[in-house]
Amino acid sequence: MKLLLASRNAGKLREFAELLPGLTLVPWPADAPELPETGAFFQDNALQKAEGAQTWWQEHGTEPVDAVLADDSGLCVDALWGGPGVLSARFAPDLATYAEKNRRLLSMLPEDAPRTARFVCVLACAPLNGLAFTVGAAVEGTLAPEPRGDSGFGYDPIFIPAGFDRTFGELPSDVKHTLSHRARACALLRSRLQG
Ligand code: IMP
Repeated sequence: MKLLLASRNAGKLREFAELLPGLTLVPWPADAPELPETGAFFQDNALQKAEGAQTWWQEHGTEPVDAVLADDSGLCVDALWGGPGVLSARFAPDLATYAEKNRRLLSMLPEDAPRTARFVCVLACAPLNGLAFTVGAAVEGTLAPEPRGDSGFGYDPIFIPAGFDRTFGELPSDVKHTLSHRARACALLRSRLQG
């Protein structure tokens, strides 16, 4: 099965290649338009990206694919009322790197606030001839006192999954892939595609 991945996020693309072995993944072309994500919920944005990519591919696609896959994901921090959440990719636009964004996010937590947080991932799959569907999953955890580790991407260095004492930035990717929001959503996707 061949899936067009409606994303240019290098971290996500690497993870999908590792999480979906056996599926052929076609990257979103460099000259294709940026896909809008204007919804209030992860599910809205995932569907918006998948359907936008599907429409564009029908006109401009260079090879046949079976379906388009879009991921909308983010870090939801309880002490920030669920933020940055759907705005995770757009958090602190004045800062250039995730090293800086992670420090800014941690500095926003009130001193005695709970440090609980979760990563959420919603995948939208839009078959070229069929109805789009979504699957979603989360991983619970807490925020580290300061960023640690440089594996993974984005907010990985500040997120400690429940049951561990190391951040996703410190844990090897094969451990992240046993429990992450994206790994769980990919497992659900696989069963939907097989069923
Ligand atoms: P979007 O889905 O394109 O809106 O972007 C999601 C953003 O959430 C990413 O750019 C990352 O900042 C963050 N994010 C999502 N999943 C992960 C993850 O597995 N690790 C670290 N950061 C993530």
